Amino acid sequence: MIDTLIIGGGTAGCVLAARLSADPEHHVRLLEAGPVSTDPAALLDAARMPIGPESPWVWRYPVTLSGAITGNIVRGKVIGGSSAINGGYFVRATATDFAAWSKELDGWSFDAVLPAYRRLERDHDFGDQPGHGTTGPIPVRRAAAPGPLSSEFASACAALGFPLIPDLNALPGAGPADGFGPVPCNIEHGRRVDTGSAYLAPALARPNLTMTGAMLVTRIRFHGTRAIGVDYVHEGKPGALDANRIVLCAGAIESAALLLRSGIGDPEQLRALDIPVVHPAPVGAWVSDHPEIGIDYRIDPAYPTAEGVPLEYVLELDDVEIRPYAVTFTPYTQRLGVALMRPHSQGVLRLRAADPTVPPHIDYRYLSEAADRIRLREAVTSAREILHEIPMARAPDSIPDDAWLFANPATSQHLSGTCRMGGADDARAVVDARCDVHGTTGLSVVDLSVVPVPLSRGPHATTVLIAERVAEYLA
Ligand SMILES: Cc1cc2nc3c(=O)[nH]c(=O)nc-3n(C[C@H](O)[C@H](O)[C@H](O)COP(=O)(O)OP(=O)(O)OC[C@H]3O[C@@H](n4cnc5c(N)ncnc54)[C@H](O)[C@@H]3O)c2cc1C
Repeated sequence: MIDTLIIGGGTAGCVLAARLSADPEHHVRLLEAGPVSTDPAALLDAARMPIGPESPWVWRYPVTLSGAITGNIVRGKVIGGSSAINGGYFVRATATDFAAWSKELDGWSFDAVLPAYRRLERDHDFGDQPGHGTTGPIPVRRAAAPGPLSSEFASACAALGFPLIPDLNALPGAGPADGFGPVPCNIEHGRRVDTGSAYLAPALARPNLTMTGAMLVTRIRFHGTRAIGVDYVHEGKPGALDANRIVLCAGAIESAALLLRSGIGDPEQLRALDIPVVHPAPVGAWVSDHPEIGIDYRIDPAYPTAEGVPLEYVLELDDVEIRPYAVTFTPYTQRLGVALMRPHSQGVLRLRAADPTVPPHIDYRYLSEAADRIRLREAVTSAREILHEIPMARAPDSIPDDAWLFANPATSQHLSGTCRMGGADDARAVVDARCDVHGTTGLSVVDLSVVPVPLSRGPHATTVLIAERVAEYLA
């Protein structure tokens, strides 16, 4: 009998599979919809995100960004999940984020999570500093020789009076909260180190750990409200598996969609799709992400350029992150990303059909709150001031007006919160502090779905953290 059946071998799923199977008595089976044998060259090159139209390693979703403005997002569909295709920025969430999180429920203060942040990392720059780790699976480094554009961005920030933050993962209070600094990255020798290679690969020889790829889980099966197994499709053939415990690590979109298709959700929505209700829950009722505006500019051809990792420096301004991307998205054009990190606007995710091949509908409702529109305008003004201080940048002449700003929201691809964490008496909560699904037995969600507050930094490091922490509970 399988003790723990993990659905999704992505960022969190690989961590959990490795940690749980460290106990030889614990039988772990990992099911991944994407391939498990990968093309290392394309996936490892940290200078490129392998997410273009031809990429076989992503799920694609049409989304509504704001009003009638639509877009597309991707998620990793390969062992390692989104950590195998992402930008390699590996920054901890802030103490303020965890203060907000632990207001929702106990157990997730910064002090409570710090041991797991330390355990997961091998920080090559600041490992000897308080609050850091030197022996964890994820290597963390900051660019030793940033490219000319990143260096000029840093000089521009300094010239405008912003303080340097040498270590964005330092303990709270160890340095300024706001300022610019080199980005900690899970990149080693130009290679992206995802959780598949860092955690799962070293564990795969264990006889108590089994992994199967190209296996799409379509539904969780219940006996009453106890989860007892899953239905899947593997190489075109349907099948079923039983397990004592089922853990969804399918990411914030697919974990929510799986719960909904299996009867955990808003009864009215489920009945409209002829899905029998197992337990009412606000799955997908809250979606958070980081809206981002891209300010494109040209580089003076007299200056040298060099592409390194996608993002070598950032400027943190409380709830705003300004990102001088070191890679190009359009030929000859550079981009300064301006992201709202604690937006007030909230989105929703709903199923469009019970059919597992039909992607859910995601409506971000970006900038629907006036506070976000005001903050974005301020942030874009700051970004433009910085651009003017960068000698090699040909800054756009005018600040885009509000109509342009509000018509051009993009997303940082950090969607979270679809199965948010909260107490049993919290009407917005889907899982408890240990990530068990309220109202059910034998079922957990362990991935970015569970985060109940907007995170002020990119979510990759915190997704690994969540899996590290919940592995303690499920061991
Ligand atoms: C293009 C891109 C760039 C990003 N860059 C950064 C960055 O630089 N820094 C940062 O902090 N964050 C970044 N992020 C966000 C971050 O990578 C993700 O939020 C995080 O990795 C999510 O982890 P997860 O475990 O929740 O889901 P995922 O890592 O997406 O894992 C989900 C896994 O479940 C599998 N799965 C899904 N459904 C099923 C099913 N039904 N049956 C079987 N398997 C299934 C998927 O194939 C996938 O492998 C980026 C995201 C994207 C998309």
